[in-house]
This record gives sequence, C-alpha cells and structure tokens, in this order.
Amino acid sequence: MKIAFIGLGNMGIGMAHNLQRAGHELTVYNRSREKADAFGARVADSPKQAASGADVAITMLADDRAVEDVTFGDHGIAAGLPRGSVHVSSSTISTALSRRLAAVHGGHQQGYVSAPVFGRPDAAEAKRLLVVPAGPADLIERCQPLFDAIGRQTFVIGSEPWQANALKLCGNFMIASMLESFGEAFATLKKAGVEPHTFLDVMSTLFGSPVYANYGKIIADEKFEPAGFALKLGLKDVRLVLQTAEECASPMPIASVVRDRLLSAMAHGQGELDWSSIARMSAKQAGL
Ligand code: NAP
Repeated sequence: MKIAFIGLGNMGIGMAHNLQRAGHELTVYNRSREKADAFGARVADSPKQAASGADVAITMLADDRAVEDVTFGDHGIAAGLPRGSVHVSSSTISTALSRRLAAVHGGHQQGYVSAPVFGRPDAAEAKRLLVVPAGPADLIERCQPLFDAIGRQTFVIGSEPWQANALKLCGNFMIASMLESFGEAFATLKKAGVEPHTFLDVMSTLFGSPVYANYGKIIADEKFEPAGFALKLGLKDVRLVLQTAEECASPMPIASVVRDRLLSAMAHGQGELDWSSIARMSAKQAGL
C-alpha cells in the first residue's frame, strides 16, 4: 500500500520501519525535518503533500494539539488525502478529538479509523505492539495488513473510532495506577529493610505480566532516563481518561489521585523522565 507516515518520534520510527520492511511504500513527514531526512524514505514537505496519493495516512503524534496541527488546515492531511483513502490515528488522543476527526474526514469522503497501540518503543521496533482499532468494519479489514506489520496481535474494539481511544486511555490508567502502587510499596519496603528487587521477584511471579516485570524493574533500578514514555505524556493520558470518565458519568477516584501525583512529579521537574518516575513522589514523602 502507499502509506503517508506522519510522526517519527520514539514510537513512530519503529512502526514506520516495520511497515517498510513489510513492503509498503512510505512517504514520511515529521515536524522536525531532520528525523524524516534520516529515516530513508521519500520525505514530504507537509502533511498534505505526504497524504496526496496515499491509500492510508498513519499518524503517531504526541497529543491532541499535534494531531490537530497535522490534520486540519490548508497544509493538513484532510486537505491532501484522496477520497476513499483512510486516516489511521495511532496516537493516544481524546475521545472528543477522535469524534471530530471522524466527522471531518467523513465530510471529505475520507475514511477514519482509530488504532491506538500498547507497547513501548522497543516493542514498536520489534513488531510486538498490541493494536486496538475501532471504526467501520470494512476499513478495519482493509487496514489489517498494516496492523499485522506493526504488531503481534489486533483486538477490534468497536465500530465507533472513539471507543478505541476510550479503551486505550483506560489501559494507560491501569498502568499508571500500577506505577503509583509500585512506588508506594517500594518506599514502604525500603523503610522496612526489604530489598525492592526481592519484592519485584515475588510480584512478577504473582502477577505473571511483562508489564509488571518491566516497569517494576525500571522503578527498582531507578533508571528513569532515557524516557521510553515521558511523564508529561503520561499526565496527558490520565487527564484524558478523566475527561472520558466525565463524558460517561463514571467516576474514577484513583485516576484523580494519580493525576495529582503526576502533577507533583511535573512540579519537581520530572516531565521529561519516564513516567515510572512517579515512584519518586512516594519515596520523597517517605523521607527517602
Ligand atoms: P514522542 O517521541 O514525543 O514523539 C512525538 C511526535 O509528535 C514527534 O514526531 C513530534 O515531532 C510530533 N509532534 C509533537 N507536537 C507536534 C505538533 N504540534 N505538530 C506536529 N508534530 C508534532 O512521542 P512517542 O513516545 O512516540 O508517543 C507518540 C504517541 O504514542 C503519543 O500519543 C503517546 O501517548 C502514544 N504512545 C506512546 C507509547 C510509549 O511508550 N512511548 C506507547 C504507546 C502509545 P518532533 O520530532 O518535531 O518533536
């Protein structure tokens, strides 16, 4: 397929490489052009130019603002993508923006699918992402070869694109809660004289999840740099899950606590560290 790939950040670069390896023809665009020049594919001067002639435009961008900037306006994807082609948005964005994207692309007779992913940059590079798309069934079927190229498994979430964003945000809420829990438990155990790695061995066995094992190790090792997922982006996701909770009139009290913890971490200058550095807040409060 002819693919416009927009956003060669930590996640996008691995995904784009795997699409290329699967034989798809890529045109890439990145706001900071040097990343696009270094990638090794045709480089576009604007999102509109990248999308012109593409079967599918994939975006993997930081946040709502970034997706709005590259999609709307005279130089945006919607202005260039041919009728009948599809915008696949893999960024973790709000359910509200997802609904707006579906409406705007619909107005241009273009398709829209939300396909957020689970997995960190190393999983993106290794084609190990979990892909959670939602949208019209025919479009998801058409895009399945692309999901196969970037991930190890696809779970179709529903027929409304924003449902995939709701699921992704709830998934990140689960991870953020786990990070906070690790931070609290490690702080208490350090004061009790128990080695964090010992606790981690027990918990990894008990919970049997690579997410527990990997994040638990990062926190036990206190290795928060380089950030696989920046804390400022984690705060963005917890804010967004609270917005979704409000839309659905479904309170999420733990998410509110985690949001405040991430906010404290931002105030302590941790925005660019990995979001697992939320654990430092518990350590500080324990006088460690
Ligand atoms: P990242 O490394 O910070 O990359 C962000 C990308 O967005 C870069 O290409 C950046 O361009 C671009 N960008 C930011 N603001 C922009 C704007 N206003 N206009 C145009 N482009 C803009 O982020 P990431 O870790 O790859 O994450 C990307 C998305 O995936 C986020 O929504 C994140 O929540 C989600 N996600 C991340 C992970 C993870 O573990 N990292 C896992 C799953 C999902 P520049 O190069 O010019 O800065």
